[in-house]
Amino acid sequence: MPYPVLRVHLDIMENNITKIVLKAAEHGISVWAVTKGLSAPLQLARMLSGTKVSALADSRIMNIRRIKEDGIKTPLALIRIPMPSEINDVIELADYSLVSDLGTLELMSKACESKKKEHSVLLMADMGDLREGFWPDKAEAIAAGVKNLSPALNIVGIGVNYGCASGVLPSRESMEKFVSFGEKIESELGKKLEIYSGGATTRSLIAMDEGLFPERVNNLRIGEGYLLGSDKSSGVIVPWLRQDTMELEAELVEVRRKPTKPIGEVGRDAFGNVPCFEDRGDRLRGILAIGRQDVNIGGLTPLEEGVKIITASSDHLLVDMEECPAEHKVGGILRFKLDYPAMLSSSTSPYVTKIYEGWC
Ligand SMILES: *Cc1c(COP(=O)(O)O)cnc(C)c1O
Repeated sequence: MPYPVLRVHLDIMENNITKIVLKAAEHGISVWAVTKGLSAPLQLARMLSGTKVSALADSRIMNIRRIKEDGIKTPLALIRIPMPSEINDVIELADYSLVSDLGTLELMSKACESKKKEHSVLLMADMGDLREGFWPDKAEAIAAGVKNLSPALNIVGIGVNYGCASGVLPSRESMEKFVSFGEKIESELGKKLEIYSGGATTRSLIAMDEGLFPERVNNLRIGEGYLLGSDKSSGVIVPWLRQDTMELEAELVEVRRKPTKPIGEVGRDAFGNVPCFEDRGDRLRGILAIGRQDVNIGGLTPLEEGVKIITASSDHLLVDMEECPAEHKVGGILRFKLDYPAMLSSSTSPYVTKIYEGWC
């Protein structure tokens, strides 16, 4: 089997998403399972479609197409605001999308008409993170802009995103403003909106029980929570979820005692940085056949006792193994825990073998 390997435990993720769905249900909240963090493999999509999530959500229409063509019946949501150039595919393939532009809505409306297809939209509100979204004080103008769209394009709700572009966290106050935005749209349109999608993993899972969400918030779009059991923007793990959902495995190609201080004049490394190494005498050092082409190295944490990351180039990861109680030889495998960027990068790298276990 070619290394490096990203080993994914679908059973543990299933356990996580099931717990999230149950806890959210206590608060009257449905869950869309977001698959983009792991590049939406079909094994994951199939597992999720057997759970009680109300939709599978991804940022890429390419991934949505693959899931749809697999015959999965769970509703599909595109969660990156659509490119005008992909709107025909969006209407064809997705059941829901998140939108923040009136011109885009008009194009979608026309595509619904010409394809004789219905499509549901959540209007995004920018509550301060400054990524996508209409300004919440513009409800009147937005409602006026959507009034004349095709009835096949259903405005079914509103959505908000936190913690992505500027790290802004949701609060009860911000959530209440979000709800008033929705209610303003409702009164302008003269119809009720079914879905108030209150965000992603960011603070949602850890603060749900502390009354973060007003009554009307009834949906969340969750990726990191079930994929990694963590909430990176809050800097915590979610204590009632599991974090051992996946590991990255790499193979040792050299193990040797070497000085810790480089020999000779030091210029820039392969990435333009001037490296600085403290002289700690001779220490056991390993080279793993994995590098920046495979994964965002900064997001790796060694799982083997006594292993510490020294540095990495495109194809090599150097580790200090002086304090390893176990003996590791060339050809041996070391394992690493991944954070969100490491998961994202290794799942998109064609050089990494993906193995999905625990579910079929
Ligand atoms: C990525 C994304 C999510 C899921 O985020 P997680 O932090 O992984 O839960 C939800 N909504 C939108 C719009 C996203 O882009």
